[in-house]
Amino acid sequence: MELLYRSTRNHEVAVSASRAILQGLAEDGGLFVPDSIPKLETGLEALPGMTYQETAYEVLKLFLTDFTEEELKHCINSAYDKKFDTPEIAPLKAADGAWYLELFHGATIAFKDMALSILPHLMTTAAKKNQVKNDIVILTATSGDTGKAALAGFADVPGTKIIVFYPRDGVSPIQEKQMVTQKGNNTYVVAIKGNFDDAQTGVKHIFGDQALKEEMEEAGYQFSSANSINIGRLVPQIAYYVYAYGRMLANGELKAGEKMNVVVPTGNFGNILAAYYAKNMGLPIDRLICASNDNKVLVDFFHTGAYDRNREFILTTSPSMDILISSNLERLIYRIAGNDAEKTRQLMQALTSDGRYEITEEMKEKLDGFYGSYATEKETADEIARVYRETGYVLDTHTAVASKVYRKYREETGDTRKTVIASTASPYKFTRSVMDAIDPKYASMTDFELVDQLSVLSGTRVPAAIEEIRTAPVLHDTVAEVSGMKAIVKKILKIEK
Ligand SMILES: *Cc1c(COP(=O)(O)O)cnc(C)c1O
Repeated sequence: MELLYRSTRNHEVAVSASRAILQGLAEDGGLFVPDSIPKLETGLEALPGMTYQETAYEVLKLFLTDFTEEELKHCINSAYDKKFDTPEIAPLKAADGAWYLELFHGATIAFKDMALSILPHLMTTAAKKNQVKNDIVILTATSGDTGKAALAGFADVPGTKIIVFYPRDGVSPIQEKQMVTQKGNNTYVVAIKGNFDDAQTGVKHIFGDQALKEEMEEAGYQFSSANSINIGRLVPQIAYYVYAYGRMLANGELKAGEKMNVVVPTGNFGNILAAYYAKNMGLPIDRLICASNDNKVLVDFFHTGAYDRNREFILTTSPSMDILISSNLERLIYRIAGNDAEKTRQLMQALTSDGRYEITEEMKEKLDGFYGSYATEKETADEIARVYRETGYVLDTHTAVASKVYRKYREETGDTRKTVIASTASPYKFTRSVMDAIDPKYASMTDFELVDQLSVLSGTRVPAAIEEIRTAPVLHDTVAEVSGMKAIVKKILKIEK
């Protein structure tokens, strides 16, 4: 049976999975959500014997029902290949009383690779299936990691162009270097004078611009999105939670059916939403622990039921979580509202006009599987130092937020259930913050000296993603005002009138 996708803001809209991937966002500004969340078909006992690719197929086939088996397997095998530095794709490492699910073994050493290495394949397959003749223009706002992962995924993919906007002062030096050195003659990188929310809102406006859409159509272009609002990013992320559970069974840490907790360092709420979908598919997950940095809008939401973005935007050492408008939360809101598109539309309207909304008591009760807490900058740095000192394992800043929040959770609840922590970036991506946390004496070293020092400390090899930017030339140097984003897009596509 075909699974259809509806807009969170209008129940009348229903499209196939491939259409939802092509479109990215629904025309009414809503996010596409599956009509229902399918149940896992494979028994849990089968999971330990499955490779990452086989596990991904089991998940994708249930959500992307208008793709053939051959198409899906082709996409999966093209994505999860030698671009990853380990055949396990997402290895699970035991350390410090938890299991770190390392999602950073792909081309750009952040968890975004898990979805963005497959999205271009899903998208070009979807374009073929739907007889799309236009070139697809991927428009993406990034807090640092999505941008590079999307650029790497889409570079030189025929029939596509990719434009990435990033906040000029809101990404790490390595993140910026990774993006501005991107090769490929269909790639464009623009720094904007604003924060991530400004970039994301700007992109949403461009998507919603009907006049621009018509001009694009005339010129043979159509937009899509590589942000986690695209269902083609969300669905592949579900796979690694299922895989992690299989690994926990294989290692004898869990018995089939026994529940695990999951901790996710959260920004746009995409990664943790994937875990929530996995849980709804029947994967035995108990608590979903949502970890935030100082931008703790989600923590307050889980505690009070009020989502309020009217607060200072704080730049932290975990920039990929510096977000006050967590786009994917809309999908959770829709679900806890009982798939009520009208209610969701009203709440999102309030978020746009007042910067806040409040959910009902009834909705709040449905959040009881979630736990939210946060780590301050000092706590995060101390956590990196502590885990390194006690175990030799080096966490990146984002994963350290999750690790600290997990400790707080355990202290508060006494829950000793086996717990998987989503490890979202390699420490090499945030070397300066990581090394500063371990010892202030590194402060005077250059970024690449720090990289070499980290290699010595952690006993790990410098990833290829870092080696290749050491000497790479800067190829992108455009800087724009937030108000100039649309003009830049038109200029890039040469559709100025
Ligand atoms: C994107 C990102 C996050 C946040 O993930 P969301 O899906 O946006 O919640 C956390 N850590 C790292 C390293 C990231 O790149």
